[in-house]
Amino acid sequence: MKLKYQTLTGMHDILPDDQIYFKKLDKTLESIAKYYSFNRIDTPVLEAADLFSKGTGAGTDIVEKEMYVFRTKGGDSVALRPEFTPSVARSYIENGMHNLPQPVKLWTSGPCFRHEKPQAGRYRQFLQFSLEVLGEKNPSIDGQIIQIGYDILRELGFKNLIIEVNSIGDSECRPYFKKILTSYFRSRRTSLCSDCQRRLKTNPLRILDCKEEKCQRVKAGAPQIIDHLCKNCHCHFKQVLEFLDELELPYTLNSCLVRGLDYYTRTVFEITETSEDGKSQGTLIAGGRYDNLVKLLGGRDTSACGAAGGYERIVNLMKARGTKPSLKQEGAKIFLAQLGQTAKRKSMKLFEDFRRAKIPVAESFSKDSLKTQLRTADKLGIRWVLIFGQKEALENFITLRDMETGTQKEISLEKVIEEMKNKIKR
Ligand SMILES: [Zn+2]
Ligand SMILES: [Zn+2]
Repeated sequence: MKLKYQTLTGMHDILPDDQIYFKKLDKTLESIAKYYSFNRIDTPVLEAADLFSKGTGAGTDIVEKEMYVFRTKGGDSVALRPEFTPSVARSYIENGMHNLPQPVKLWTSGPCFRHEKPQAGRYRQFLQFSLEVLGEKNPSIDGQIIQIGYDILRELGFKNLIIEVNSIGDSECRPYFKKILTSYFRSRRTSLCSDCQRRLKTNPLRILDCKEEKCQRVKAGAPQIIDHLCKNCHCHFKQVLEFLDELELPYTLNSCLVRGLDYYTRTVFEITETSEDGKSQGTLIAGGRYDNLVKLLGGRDTSACGAAGGYERIVNLMKARGTKPSLKQEGAKIFLAQLGQTAKRKSMKLFEDFRRAKIPVAESFSKDSLKTQLRTADKLGIRWVLIFGQKEALENFITLRDMETGTQKEISLEKVIEEMKNKIKR
């Protein structure tokens, strides 16, 4: 029987039975975001259409084919947001957040809209979350964003996760690579699908992204951007990979990973789960660095990096596993202060070890003076501060400061988790 009213194509209800999965994802996000000092932001569903055609990029599928755009009665061209990043960047500029201590770490979630071809697991109104770090060019942030994406999925019970990473260069080296790539594909033009023949003019990098079989064959022999990065991009990417090594994350380099959006620079990544038989279940969380977006939208030159994920796909896989999630969490009792590059890198690993041991730890990876960090710990009312400086990092110990008594002692790195477990138990 045909119903008189039903959800529109690509729209869906979240029924009471499914709420727990969405809630679990919300809670997990919230606690991990808080753990890494992200603050919540909410932006409107409706924005100027221009924000996305400029920010996301006029030549992208999202803007070109999928965005819901319409005119208001007043004649303004507005769009239902297809993603969060341009909105968050807009808010950063509009609210003068460059005046805050940098980086500004923000996270958000809510409905986004894309008028896609209906297919399994894809919706036209879907829930998305996004984490954005603005005002930081240090590659440790790329590493941390990837780590957080990975953590969220691990926490939700995903096991066979693979992180694919690539660097797509910046305005210094990418134009040159585009030329090389274009001439490679131009000489093989007739072997490309019709979409890619068009992309050859508009956005040759996207050809690397094409899922058509004939294009897959052509791109197998294509030049790789990794070999054509400028010195700065090369160095940045190397450091990102060093962070991933340090954090012991399972990553692979994928030279064809470009992501479909215009604003990405340097690091791009996707996290996917593979099933038992090695088949990819699709991308669950993805993102990258976008050092030019804020400036492009009229703000100051601001380096930034972020990640986003869709609720429905994650929830569908959680449901397929058949275990109902449970909900609970608590606040930090330890503060991890670090000084200097080596310490910063090593402390990220330590920070992660604490998280795995389910001991909540607060940090401020970005602020460099110890005084500022101790003040932050004090403000948070935290008694135990672990100080990780250059000397500590080299000699593999950590200094524990009791903020109540002002006393300090040294603990070897292998014992720190055990020892702190006992301290906070009391
Ligand atoms: Zn193609
Ligand atoms: Zn470069």
